[in-house]
Amino acid sequence: MLPTLRRCAAASKIIKHCGWKEGPIDAATNALVNIRLNEHLNAFTNLQKEEVILSEAKKAQERAFKRELKHALDGRLIAIKDNIATIDLPTTCASYMLKDYQSPFDATVVERLRDKGAIVVGKTNMDEFGMGSHSTFSPFGPVSKPGTTPLESLAYSAGGSSGGSAAAVAAGMCDIALGTDTGGSVRLPASYCGLVGFKPSYGMLSRWGVVAYANSLDTVGIIANHSNDVKAVWKVLNFPDKLDPTCVETGTRMRVGRMIEDFHRVRRDTRKDGRFRIGVPMEYNVEEMAEGTRKLWDATLEYLAQWGCEIVPISLPHTRHALPAYYILAPAEASSNLARYDGIRYGTRHEQDRDGETLFAPTRAAGFGDEVRRRILLGTYSLSSEAMGNYFVQAQKVRRLVQKDFDSVFAMPNGLDCDGETKWEDRPWNSKGVDVIVCPTALGESPKLEDVNKMSQTERYAGDVLTVPASLAGLPAVSMPVSKKVGMQVIGQWGDEKGMWEVAVMLEKMRKGEVGAQLADEAEAALNGVERVD
Ligand code: GLN
Repeated sequence: MLPTLRRCAAASKIIKHCGWKEGPIDAATNALVNIRLNEHLNAFTNLQKEEVILSEAKKAQERAFKRELKHALDGRLIAIKDNIATIDLPTTCASYMLKDYQSPFDATVVERLRDKGAIVVGKTNMDEFGMGSHSTFSPFGPVSKPGTTPLESLAYSAGGSSGGSAAAVAAGMCDIALGTDTGGSVRLPASYCGLVGFKPSYGMLSRWGVVAYANSLDTVGIIANHSNDVKAVWKVLNFPDKLDPTCVETGTRMRVGRMIEDFHRVRRDTRKDGRFRIGVPMEYNVEEMAEGTRKLWDATLEYLAQWGCEIVPISLPHTRHALPAYYILAPAEASSNLARYDGIRYGTRHEQDRDGETLFAPTRAAGFGDEVRRRILLGTYSLSSEAMGNYFVQAQKVRRLVQKDFDSVFAMPNGLDCDGETKWEDRPWNSKGVDVIVCPTALGESPKLEDVNKMSQTERYAGDVLTVPASLAGLPAVSMPVSKKVGMQVIGQWGDEKGMWEVAVMLEKMRKGEVGAQLADEAEAALNGVERVD
């Protein structure tokens, strides 16, 4: 039996005062009910014990009584993707290889959230090691998107690879979830499940304790129903970390931060009404995009224009090479990162794997799923001496061109390209450039799981076409649920989360505003017409 909250008038008053809609115990109880009711979604790989969640909630409630809440996140329920280390729950990466792996420490991002009083409800299901876009490559079974009827709840993809995190938030099993985004894994599930999904600039959040898939692309991301919750978590996690050498250090943060403040001050002072200039990349309007998505994109731009934004067509000519480059670079890095799972250093050792006989091979053959094995083979090949020049090196060059494309369209220079010597005022900036880019996150709405199973590998990979470019360039991007079925992405210059959020928050109001809602409804109707010919 789940305990219920014994309320008193004073408690309600304090809880209200602290900004809660309900007390931590009520919230935890509701989430536990939702977890039990939604087991079929397969959103979790491992759950925290109910009594632990409730006792943490009780402590938060007591702190609320005494007006001693540690932070706005105190008592909030957080789910953690299963490739982020937790000291009290296994970290399996949804892989048979790590089925028994228990981390001896919390990842920095988890530690920071717990310090603020957040309660970890469980570890979320995902594509094995983050490789996939529909959370179907998991020994725990596929994740499904929460629906309005039980049948609908089993039918559709929640996206991936952080599909469990998105499903958990969408079904009310937690308030906020952490995911990881290497090529779109937070943004795509957020788009499919009607949520806010944020991938920060590369290097802003610590990856200490995050199991590496492709280090040069991996970022921790945040999923929630509202931008306020995502931003609250972002503020807590956005710090340097000595334990992660790729986490941007204080000096660079301050320098780029100053530049961005200056930029937005100049924007507000010099442009009429401080209007934002929104870039619309022509190359993202790909043939495969569903008609409804295109209409929704149009409606979004029309809505932003009504907010006073200036809509500017831009060209990112190397976009079409971004996807192939990503699918060379990510597997190449993965093949190196996953070498440690050999049954000796890490991983479930196979019984045929004995000293004096064949080592490694039986363990690796049995421990990894098909998709992971495919990527290891692809990556090992592109790094081999015979293929290196034609594949890996070329892909690195393409990555640089994609980065340069972005830098050439943004008004603000890339803070990482600056030498630190040149003053902001002396640095050239593109007076015709744009502040952010707005485009759809996904080509269409969430597909049926049965259709996902019929997709070829290339069809699956092609679904990442709109998310991968920002990953290659390390740019901040957030998917906003302008419709219930497809999200719009706002992409900013490196480090410019500020500008990105300002525009994203305008989009958050789109469904609420009369004009925006009407535009979104019309586009959604078109989306239905195109996508649902059952
Ligand atoms: N779908 C992409 C891949 O399989 C992205 C995954 C991710 O961002 N973790 O590589």
